[in-house]
Amino acid sequence: MIKEKLRRENKFFVYENIDKPKNTISLSTALDRMINILDIPLAKQDIETIRKAIHIRNQMMHYEVDSSIIELQSNYSILFEFVTSFHYRFLGSELHDNIREELWEVEAELIKFFRSELLIYNAEEVHKNFPKDFLESKYIEEYEIIGIGYPRIRYGNEKYGELKLTFQNKCSECLVKIGEFHVPGCDVEQCPKCYGQAISCDCNYEIEDESIEVNI
Ligand SMILES: [Zn+2]
Ligand SMILES: [Zn+2]
Repeated sequence: MIKEKLRRENKFFVYENIDKPKNTISLSTALDRMINILDIPLAKQDIETIRKAIHIRNQMMHYEVDSSIIELQSNYSILFEFVTSFHYRFLGSELHDNIREELWEVEAELIKFFRSELLIYNAEEVHKNFPKDFLESKYIEEYEIIGIGYPRIRYGNEKYGELKLTFQNKCSECLVKIGEFHVPGCDVEQCPKCYGQAISCDCNYEIEDESIEVNI
């Protein structure tokens, strides 16, 4: 990504010798050029993160990794956070859009460990717990209310009596698309039993999956 940022500024920036464009530069040189030539405002912490990644990569190449799995996991999530933010800030699009759908759950799991609370996900600023809840919501097809299962009402199928809602492509609260289930806890979701607002009605919901927090 760093090389791509350099290449977008000037195609010769990725070569060791700009007069004889043949070999491309190493990641360390790319980082130096980005800081010194492009004057990209990278935080000291980000530079340390990349240097650490280079170090671990080199250790791996030589089968000399001395970090524990826990340390590697933590470094990986720090690096993934940096890469997510770098892609958005400097390459002008979300990293998420380049991740295959079958890996979205792994991505959401990594995002949960980000150090900053907020991030951009599907063009919206969301809390870091959101991607996981968002992906899990589609598996909760019904709510159990006093022993009876009620199929959940999908976004766009709300029945608000006389009130006519105009639906946008995405739910204004939880960002799901028309036809998808709301993220549990969304204020737009309608209760499938009493048709009131699911988060505030008096129905007694029983949620089986305890990892999902619902304020009902
Ligand atoms: Zn919603
Ligand atoms: Zn209800």
